[in-house]
Amino acid sequence: VDTLNPLPDPAERDVETTLRPKDLHEFVGQPKVREQLELVLQGAMQRGSPPDHVLLSGPPGLGKTSLAMIIAAELGASLRITSGPALERAGDLAAMLSNLVEGDVLFIDEIHRMARPAEEMLYLAMEDFRVDVVVGKGPGATSIPLDIAPFTLVGATTRSGALTGPLRDRFGFTGHMEFYSAEELELIVRRSAKILGVDLREDGGREIAGRSRGTPRIANRLLRRVRDYAEVRADGAVTLEVARDALKVYDVDELGLDRLDRAVLDALVRSFGGGPVGVSTLAVAVGEEPTTVEEVCEPYLVRAGMLARTPRGRVATATAWLHLGLQPPAGAPG
Ligand code: ATP
Repeated sequence: VDTLNPLPDPAERDVETTLRPKDLHEFVGQPKVREQLELVLQGAMQRGSPPDHVLLSGPPGLGKTSLAMIIAAELGASLRITSGPALERAGDLAAMLSNLVEGDVLFIDEIHRMARPAEEMLYLAMEDFRVDVVVGKGPGATSIPLDIAPFTLVGATTRSGALTGPLRDRFGFTGHMEFYSAEELELIVRRSAKILGVDLREDGGREIAGRSRGTPRIANRLLRRVRDYAEVRADGAVTLEVARDALKVYDVDELGLDRLDRAVLDALVRSFGGGPVGVSTLAVAVGEEPTTVEEVCEPYLVRAGMLARTPRGRVATATAWLHLGLQPPAGAPG
């Protein structure tokens, strides 16, 4: 996995677990979502009933799974974890739902990728805490209603727009996760350094934070790569100089753009004259899946002011041209 890839890497699961914030106070940033969630949880606890279902939406690596764990912890509930792609058949979901105990939190990651029959079963489960199990096939098939324990669903998605209307409507609360500021990432990196026992100096921490693409998962990953460099090529202390030298080795540029980000900008500017160009064409040009370009790459390029999404396609901004060392054409958006 690339240092800057915001997607989870199974090989890193253990260290990610160590670094996960355990409660809402340890969870840095996302002040809006945190405040809203605190009210949702407090309100439910005061009424003594399970809270509304929660949808968390935003780019990968921003802490959706961490928040789901925190929600369960704050409620004193058990967390069951699954994901949209794992729920291929409605039966898979039925088994999961009928095993829930009252008050459990069910976390479905990538909920927009759930198969249709499972999704339809989830509607009823969310609304009435009931599933209809179909027994038999063909004209003789009957559906048997089955009560399930009241639970709270936490869904995570990188594309809330890809959710069907009926599913979206059944969530009582949607938290929109934003990219983190450099100051917030600095707090996260410092906290992680303390947990991992890394000698992180003030300016070293700031440098890593500033190049983490607004994403805690990347910040933690860069910290570990810089620490390797500090221990192998220096005396172990992560100073500004060590951080800069290490990040150069890993191809992280001053803005924190990774190889795919730069490839997308490069193709957009050099092969398509700055656009507009459709996302699928752009994806083919860089040899990636359109969903990866759209869900992983673009959100940060938009936020960094490098790429604009227009009805006619993607367009490179003047900032993008300049970042690639080229003169922007007169018509490029600012
Ligand atoms: P994905 O959807 O790709 O699984 P995610 O949005 O669920 O990503 P998490 O797995 O929750 O992201 O977070 C990734 C890592 O980033 C975690 O290991 C955690 O250490 C760190 N992290 C995320 N958010 C925060 C935060 N607010 N404060 C401190 N650390 C955080």
